[in-house]
Amino acid sequence: MKYDLRNITIEELKNLTSDLGMEPYRARQIAQWVFRNNAGSIDDMTSLSKETRKKLHEVAGISSFTPEKVVTSADGSKKYLFKTADGCGVESVLLPEKNHWTLCISSQIGCTLGCRFCYTGTIGFIRNLSAAEIVNQVSAVLKAEGLQEKLPNLVLMGMGEPLLNYEQVVKSLKILLSPWGFNFSHRKVTVSTAGIIPQIQQLARDLPVNLAISLNAPSDEIRNFLMPVNKKYPLKNFLYEARSFPIPSRKRITFEYVLIKDVNDSGEHAEALARLLQKIPCKINLIPFNEYPGAPFKRPDEEHVTAFQSILHQHHFTAPIRISKGSDIVAACGQLGGSINVGNKQTP
Ligand code: SAH
Ligand code: SF4
Repeated sequence: MKYDLRNITIEELKNLTSDLGMEPYRARQIAQWVFRNNAGSIDDMTSLSKETRKKLHEVAGISSFTPEKVVTSADGSKKYLFKTADGCGVESVLLPEKNHWTLCISSQIGCTLGCRFCYTGTIGFIRNLSAAEIVNQVSAVLKAEGLQEKLPNLVLMGMGEPLLNYEQVVKSLKILLSPWGFNFSHRKVTVSTAGIIPQIQQLARDLPVNLAISLNAPSDEIRNFLMPVNKKYPLKNFLYEARSFPIPSRKRITFEYVLIKDVNDSGEHAEALARLLQKIPCKINLIPFNEYPGAPFKRPDEEHVTAFQSILHQHHFTAPIRISKGSDIVAACGQLGGSINVGNKQTP
């Protein structure tokens, strides 16, 4: 197919419909079918005449993902595994919260950044996902779960570094956030990054989404060890960015801090973290390390985790402990690997 309607913004659709000699209002009508109504094929677009559908058929189609496998965890979270047209595995995870769902989606297959504690990082990098492949994770889960009317929160925290697939990620977010698309509220969409500074600045200009930065260390020394990307974008540079990131009044920046036994989980580390983040309006999500087969680190015990948290509380930080859901089905943070065939590696 020449045009994939799941990979198209309203501007591109307006050009396409105009080239096909259709009335201008058709672009919005088609977008509504493709995104809001989750149409699986052009024939589903019953408000379009047969002739119009035929014209559209000649140049366009609608790609989609069908779940290959859905695994449900004891805590209610669900891991969806999709297969791309070229046979790669893509994972998305639906997590139950108190009153809503959060859907965690992937932006790349594998990741170039090779953080030592992250399973995705050990796979290496296979390829970027297209905007359609990002959008199709959302469409497929909404359809399977009947969530079109009660949209979940959305986090780009699955496989990959979203800001290193900037163009496709921003395009998919435009489709997800726009009234002509899925109409997600920007307050409910979060992009998580390892701290790619130029794209953090660009994102602040392009889209009003929430930003989460994976900090994971209170010093450059520890961060260099855990996240090689820190050598390119050191802590103090991106904390400067974090201070100047335009945050609307009710929003705060979020830092993710994976607590790893004997690496970054001591009382001194907590004090150093508090000093580092002072005067930044932020929330610190504490994520006890999720172990996976062959993982080089251990999860700290519960007392260590709560002691770390109390120090941050003493310094007046909001620091919830995010016990990752889905760890029994290898669907928790940092455990995603796209368990079909990723390159030549078979993942759990
Ligand atoms: N590349 C982006 C988004 C994907 S990683 C980023 O780094 O932010 C999503 C989150 O999972 C990050 O906050 C990362 O620190 C966390 N994570 C990775 N491996 C983990 C593990 N083994 N246990 C717990 N959290 C992990
Ligand atoms: Fe990539 Fe994020 Fe994993 Fe680091 S933590 S390897 S940036 S997915």
